[in-house]
Amino acid sequence: MSAQREWFEKDYYKVLGVSDTATQKEITRAYRKLARENHPDAKPGDTAAEERFKEISAAYDVVGDADKRKEYDEVRTLGPMGGFGGPMAGAPPGGGFGPGGFSFSTEDFAGGGGFGDILGNLFGRGRNAGPSRGTGPQRGADLEAELSMDFEDAVRGITTTLHLTSEATCHVCKGSGAEAGSAPIVCPTCAGRGVIDDNQGMFSLSRPCPQCAGRGTIVEDPCHNCHGSGVERRPREVKVRIPAGVTDGQRIRLKGRGGPGRNGGPPGDLYVTCRVEPNALFGIDGKNLTITVPVTFAEATLGADIAVPTVDDGKVTLRLPAGTRNGRTFRVKGRGVAGPKGNGDLLVTVEVAVPAKVSAAERKAIEALAAASTESPRAHLGVEET
Ligand SMILES: [Zn+2]
Ligand SMILES: [Zn+2]
Repeated sequence: MSAQREWFEKDYYKVLGVSDTATQKEITRAYRKLARENHPDAKPGDTAAEERFKEISAAYDVVGDADKRKEYDEVRTLGPMGGFGGPMAGAPPGGGFGPGGFSFSTEDFAGGGGFGDILGNLFGRGRNAGPSRGTGPQRGADLEAELSMDFEDAVRGITTTLHLTSEATCHVCKGSGAEAGSAPIVCPTCAGRGVIDDNQGMFSLSRPCPQCAGRGTIVEDPCHNCHGSGVERRPREVKVRIPAGVTDGQRIRLKGRGGPGRNGGPPGDLYVTCRVEPNALFGIDGKNLTITVPVTFAEATLGADIAVPTVDDGKVTLRLPAGTRNGRTFRVKGRGVAGPKGNGDLLVTVEVAVPAKVSAAERKAIEALAAASTESPRAHLGVEET
């Protein structure tokens, strides 16, 4: 199914449970929540949840990206052609204006989306063929894979090999479908056009050639390995480069690394869902790393120099100013995720630690502090203390 057609038919906002005016932030929040709830790890064996998870991911792939979302909104408003400015752009090579009047080829209806799809619906015919049985070049399947990595790999990025079992071009016939020593021949029924014409008065309608199923060629002596399909299932190794700074659950699209196309179509894409082992100290937030550092009340009040670990086993000294409030975040430049366009930062959030137990000496000191305090932090609430 073409992306545009899919976009036209699917309401990704509805899938994510947001309105079409939602901000990117709201969309991301909705996606994260749904992805967590329906994640295969959270509901092992629940195929409905798995389906839902795929749907959510597909929706977020589009509307979670500001640029793609803009295109999507356009398609949704104007139709799959992105407006009706150029309907003939969708016409097949053999279509257009035939001698007997206006000629449509059924390739229009099964093929690349666009104008033909709309007409197909209007005419009450067309897409019964389904995406996998269309004629002409077909794009390969999109594949899903999962990749587990430790935190350091996620921070630095990783080049690795994925082992997949998937459809691949048949290694015996190299995709032609013909047995060694033979070659596909031009289909005698359609003379290689892939379509045949039905003349019905002023309309000349074309339909896919029944003998060659629209390919235009026939394999007389099918390949023994793939039985003429040109594809086989086999283990495949795909080298992938995962960029630095991926977070757990993030899905990365590797263009053209999916299943092979048929009849000269382009390959599909490979989607890799990253599983990142959590780290006890650090979190990742895009290019930045995060860490929470406990400080004492005295350090926050009077100021202090605090040693903060960095992800490369080093440390930095953070100068806490006097009067630092609880929850304040400091930015340590350049100590986050390393990237080609410069490093991210380390975001240090201080958390004033409240001791669960105090010694007698501490209790005395804290009581002395309380007695010496003249201002209540609740003065602005305007209620009398009892
Ligand atoms: Zn073969
Ligand atoms: Zn034919």
